[in-house]
Amino acid sequence: MKSQSRYQDQIIRLISEHKTFCIVGHVRPDGDCIGSQMGLALALRDQGKEVAVWNEDKVPQKLAFLDPEGWVSQPRGKRRFDCVIATDCASYERLGKVGGYILDRAVLVNIDHHESNTRYGDVNWVSGCESSTGELIFKLLQTAKWPVTTRIANCLFTAVSTDTGSFQYPTTLPSTYQTGGELVRLGADLAKICDEVYQSSSLSRVRLLRHVYNHFKLTHNNQVAYLWLRKADFTRTGAEPSDTEGIIDHIRAIDSVVVACVFEEIEPELTRISLRSKHPGVNVSTVAAEFGGGGHSAAAGVRIAGSQLSIQRRLIAAIRTALDRVNGRSSEPKSGSGSNLKP
Ligand code: 5GP
Ligand code: MN
Repeated sequence: MKSQSRYQDQIIRLISEHKTFCIVGHVRPDGDCIGSQMGLALALRDQGKEVAVWNEDKVPQKLAFLDPEGWVSQPRGKRRFDCVIATDCASYERLGKVGGYILDRAVLVNIDHHESNTRYGDVNWVSGCESSTGELIFKLLQTAKWPVTTRIANCLFTAVSTDTGSFQYPTTLPSTYQTGGELVRLGADLAKICDEVYQSSSLSRVRLLRHVYNHFKLTHNNQVAYLWLRKADFTRTGAEPSDTEGIIDHIRAIDSVVVACVFEEIEPELTRISLRSKHPGVNVSTVAAEFGGGGHSAAAGVRIAGSQLSIQRRLIAAIRTALDRVNGRSSEPKSGSGSNLKP
């Protein structure tokens, strides 16, 4: 296996050899995706490159401050690029519709931190050791000795901060704090980022939260919390799909809960599922993979076609099996029995 620095050198060489770039990210982009895309796009523009930034979905409102000129766009027709760089995207399918617009390219580079990454690029720098793709982009810029401007620092700090749950998830290493500290030293505006990303909610999101607290369900001795978000819930609350970012954390936080699961109706026969695990022995990426999805051990997702009831039954059954495996049991825990699953 090539060392990280060899991948970086190869990518830096590719970038210096080419002129036109498209930086692409996954459907329903999060802070790590937008922060990494914008951080890299800004750095490449500073190097005199022509850069487009394409996503299937628009930038969530709370991340719009990273892209004041509206650089991130949906593809407007097919175009030729010398080099397409995908950031934070575990599989080609996760690019969504964008995947169909970037076929005319000399080279596809895949930069990501998901273990489950399918290595779909011509060059695949996949490192599961980092908490976020933002950290990989920061390393790349440092190795290339390209300036990390205040704006780039804002983008990359947002990437690292959002993917670590504000430096709280177990993926946060001493080196993650060092990266965060370095980005603050380079000018990342903590007050602005925290205000935009964590301290302001649209009224519609708060209405959606009310729905969450009113409708979440518990099962498996309160170790599994789940919730449905249906189209009607979005219409009633005025929330947009991007308002669901982080919603799962509210049911994950229940102290008895080991696995949290949010089912979101995309179409009547297509459901997006988000999963979180609080136990190191319960790997929700493996659960998601059973249905064709992926992610990380503690945070994963998948989209499944079919009837909602059947999807819910199959998913909850898979979660129970994963929980029981850790508990060394194969049956439902007796109600009221203490769980030995709490990490
Ligand atoms: P979220 O629940 O925040 O949407 O996603 C959690 C994690 O699971 C992220 O790391 C994300 O990349 C991954 N993930 C979410 N949905 C999918 C999916 O449909 N396929 C794959 N492979 N990964 C997903
Ligand atoms: Mn990420």
